[in-house]
Amino acid sequence: MPIDPDFPKNHKVVGIHKHQDPDYFHFVWGPGRLADASENDDVKKAYAERGEELVPLGVHGTFVSVDWDVCIADGGCIEVCPVQVYEWYRTAVDVPAKDVPSTSSPGTGENQKKDGRKDYTDKSDPIREKDCIWCMACVTVCPVGAIKVSQANVPFHEKARETFKK
Ligand code: SF4
Repeated sequence: MPIDPDFPKNHKVVGIHKHQDPDYFHFVWGPGRLADASENDDVKKAYAERGEELVPLGVHGTFVSVDWDVCIADGGCIEVCPVQVYEWYRTAVDVPAKDVPSTSSPGTGENQKKDGRKDYTDKSDPIREKDCIWCMACVTVCPVGAIKVSQANVPFHEKARETFKK
């Protein structure tokens, strides 16, 4: 089940994920729904080993968007992006994914390699969303269709900037 292409209409903003550089931030859309990640053996095993509950997580980003309920921590998007939009979120802040919305990450995710995940509970995070150059390489490489990149979604981001209250 790929990312819902109409998620800005079918979801609402539930958080803002900040970067230590105030020029960078992205909105988180929820409530999400259990999808590919909840059916993937590597992901389920990793959650069990951490003792974390696998719950709906929603979509990170608005015009560069990763559905964290679909993302199975493949990592191809992180390695292929020519402008380092993405990072493995746990390499910057190692907390349960459900706690990431409305928090701040230092944006120092160190490992830009496909296999740089901490484990299969990790997620690709569009931490530098505004740097996207619309090449679509990440969309093409994702094996589960977790990513939508669309300039048409920029107005949803701008509206959320004006209206979202923490
Ligand atoms: S579309 Fe290209 S530049 Fe934008 S996030 Fe994806 S890989 Fe990076």
